[in-house]
Amino acid sequence: MKLKMSNLPLPHGGRLIDRRLGKNECRKAARLISGAQVFELSDNLLMDVAKISDGSFSPLEGFMDREDYGLVVKQKKLKNGLVWTIPIVFDISRKAALAVKTGDTIALIRGAHPIAILVVRDKFIPDRRKDAKLIFGTTDERHPGVREYLNKKDVFLGGDISTLNQPRFGFFAFDYEPRQTRDIFTQMGWRTVVAFHSRNVIHRAHEFLQKSAMQVSDGIFIHLIAGKTKTGDFLPDIILGGYQRFIKLYYPKQRALLGVLTCAMKFAGPREAVFHAIIRKNYGCTHFIVGRDHAGVGGFYQKYAAHNIFDEFGDLGITILKLSGPYFCKKCREIVTEKVCPHPTRYHSAVSGTLIRDLIKRGKTPPPDLMRPEVAKFLLRKARIKNIFSA
Ligand SMILES: [Zn+2]
Repeated sequence: MKLKMSNLPLPHGGRLIDRRLGKNECRKAARLISGAQVFELSDNLLMDVAKISDGSFSPLEGFMDREDYGLVVKQKKLKNGLVWTIPIVFDISRKAALAVKTGDTIALIRGAHPIAILVVRDKFIPDRRKDAKLIFGTTDERHPGVREYLNKKDVFLGGDISTLNQPRFGFFAFDYEPRQTRDIFTQMGWRTVVAFHSRNVIHRAHEFLQKSAMQVSDGIFIHLIAGKTKTGDFLPDIILGGYQRFIKLYYPKQRALLGVLTCAMKFAGPREAVFHAIIRKNYGCTHFIVGRDHAGVGGFYQKYAAHNIFDEFGDLGITILKLSGPYFCKKCREIVTEKVCPHPTRYHSAVSGTLIRDLIKRGKTPPPDLMRPEVAKFLLRKARIKNIFSA
């Protein structure tokens, strides 16, 4: 089969990074690390290694050194001038850091498995509290992202990684890497691909956003985040299962691709919206939907702060679709946004993930205006046989 010429956007920085070693290089690397310092990767670091390695985080080739880290935190860019908003760091304890010096090659393992090597370019102690304020806009420890950041170990190691064994996660059939989605989009003949990021079950407001974008694009890539989220959220397999049913029943074949992004949520609101957009650019998407309070948590960010941040940058190489938050209007009798509905707010009711979670928790079926009955039925059935919420 002859593929159509790809019309997809270039990855961030122009080149899709691939840090996986070939067989021969692996043998060499294995010799190099026999006797080297060994570090066990946490869940989050393992995911970061996977995403750096397969190019999802292009142009990053490793963990940030002091200079990149400082620029990202203070100026939302890397030293090569590219926009980047979220630090990708490798943290170790002060005690462990004593045995590591610049120029060392260290081994990153998971259990008994060697995963990657890290050539240490830099070792530094950041001011995490000061930096959290810049990254998250707050140092309030009720913010789950802040809490996680302040709990990091004291010393950060910067340097490029090379992967001996690419980590694999659950949902393997859906856990595409950028090269795969680029191939799929090209084979589908999609020239415009809208990415939709979600960590929630599909409800009617998200359906409205997706369909608004689908009207003007060739295809949609629904990219569900599966990593550590926050307590009380639906578990990733439940979110995925609901989507599988929904897409089969309500979207034309050949118009939607469902994928899972194994990456931890940071709840950094606007900064994370930019990070999410760059990842989807690397996946080959031309457009990215940013809705109300994207990647926000609690009341920490303004409703549309994640829209406004994009005004700080020039062309990112992916078009941001800034969409308003849809609601159900009793007068319009459908899901609408303030852009098309003239009615006062007393006629509006929110379609929120939180509301749906509460209903499902109580064994109640969300009304069809909130959620498709087939999805609701699936959630309630699963909730009867197992815990469907993150602990
Ligand atoms: Zn209305």
